[in-house]
Amino acid sequence: DGNVIWFMGMKSLRIEDNRGLAHASSLAKERGGHLIVVFFISPGDWKMHDRAPQRIDFVLRNLAEVQKQLQELNIPLVIHTQKKRTDIPKDMARFAKEWGATSVVGNIEYEVDECWRDIAVIKELSKSNVHVDFLEDVYVVPAGVLKTGQGNQYSVFSPWNRSWTAYLSSNLDLIEESPLPEANDASIRKKGGKLAPLFDSKVPSSVEGFECENVDYMKKLWPAGSHAARTVLDNFIKRKGGENGMDAPATGDCWDDVGPNAKESRIGRYGIGRNLVSENGSSRLSPYLSAGVISARACLRATMNLEKGKLKVGRSTGVEMWNTEVSFRDFYGHVLAAWPRVSMQRNYILKYEAVVWENNEEHFKRWCEGKTGYPLIDAGMRQLAHSSWQHNRARMACAMFLTKHLLCDWRWGERHYARHLIDSDLASNNAGWQWSASTGTDPQPYFRVFNPTSQSEKCDPNGEYIRHWLPELSGVKGNAIHEPFARLSRSEFEKLDYPKPIVEHKAARERALARFKQPGST
Ligand code: FAD
Repeated sequence: DGNVIWFMGMKSLRIEDNRGLAHASSLAKERGGHLIVVFFISPGDWKMHDRAPQRIDFVLRNLAEVQKQLQELNIPLVIHTQKKRTDIPKDMARFAKEWGATSVVGNIEYEVDECWRDIAVIKELSKSNVHVDFLEDVYVVPAGVLKTGQGNQYSVFSPWNRSWTAYLSSNLDLIEESPLPEANDASIRKKGGKLAPLFDSKVPSSVEGFECENVDYMKKLWPAGSHAARTVLDNFIKRKGGENGMDAPATGDCWDDVGPNAKESRIGRYGIGRNLVSENGSSRLSPYLSAGVISARACLRATMNLEKGKLKVGRSTGVEMWNTEVSFRDFYGHVLAAWPRVSMQRNYILKYEAVVWENNEEHFKRWCEGKTGYPLIDAGMRQLAHSSWQHNRARMACAMFLTKHLLCDWRWGERHYARHLIDSDLASNNAGWQWSASTGTDPQPYFRVFNPTSQSEKCDPNGEYIRHWLPELSGVKGNAIHEPFARLSRSEFEKLDYPKPIVEHKAARERALARFKQPGST
């Protein structure tokens, strides 16, 4: 019969506004068949791709929510655990046969390993004449569509962003919402029916090798489900205030619309708020976007509702700036699709393959632990370790410090982030690291090296973020918080259980500049 399988990926954990799922549903209806959803738990893949236990926990929690929603529509979500990561194509062909499926549908994922996997799925299924469709869903504008005047992929964000905005403004259907899947007829659940046992498949609460030690705290910060994702978005668009950004749930349940920032909505204040590390100045949607619990299209639509249906992208208002950031997600996805080497641990700028890194293991360890003696960097690294998420300014400062001040290979940092972030996404993480190391698409040359102390003064002017994440500095008053070793007396400093700076800023900067000026030199 004409059953259809939707192959659910780690980036599509929702039933709302999902291109692949909507297409699978309409195919099943057309053929008078049933829709069946399959998700592969693939620990081998997850190990290989350095997935954080918190990320896996978030995936499983969201998957359980999706399963509940699908069951209400009589659609089974089947969970299958892979012994070998390369077994997915064979298993898919076996399921198609067993379940009488004539079509398999998925959403395209552009990472090299995922592309190979999906090509193998297509090849395997074509042997038994099962039809396969992969749809564009993850990015708002499909990768490969926007071209420079010479017909190439853009490598610079600003012209790409102009092109993205113009293209979307004349193709607004790309932002339209996809319909929910239609319910299967209830007969599918009848005892004795061929497909009824599929409803026994249960989402596990954890997977061996990825046990998450702080599930309750993660649940509080990042509640699962598309409803929660919607609340996070609504709070960002509509709510005011949001001062305490450090331990608050992303849904904003425990903050009041009061405080000095309460005059404006959070999105309205985004231009200022997004640079202040102690605030809830950004949306905190990244875990939901990277796991596809909400679509980027839904984010754009929500801002268009504020702007009389217009898509506003630019640098003037909070809404414009936020949409520009949302577009960065597409940009880095397009870069990853166009230059597969960036998914394969290579530099985007090839000449920097020759840069000689120090790769001092002791320095790397101290950076991971948040013990470099630079308070903003240390607070950022403790935030990452504690909450599996980091503010964007902290990500930039910490990544630049590792790659420029400590001259550690950006791949070490990228791997560490992948292993700890709840929102880890290869395209954005890799781009963030290559941006910081000056080996990526950013047109700014290598001599941009943030001064960690002045960054601290700008992004955490009152030192609240630092005092929150570094309890050993909670008693340090005033400006000394940004540079305790230099700004406190020797005896005051020695009373703190805090290290002196691991490297001296000026000398470290000079060393990095020399290495990048002449890749290969030591
Ligand atoms: P908001 O400011 O509210 O932005 C909304 C959304 O736009 C984000 O959720 C995200 O999907 C997208 N976005 C915003 N900024 C960027 C950006 N610079 N690049 C790509 N997308 C962006 N983002 C990830 O989603 N996953 C990662 O693994 C990741 N790793 C990073 C590593 C480094 C070293 C750096 C410098 C940045 C990294 N980023 C990553 C980008 C950025 O830091 C986060 O997307 C952002 O901090 C998430 O917070 P938010 O949801 O509150 O963002």
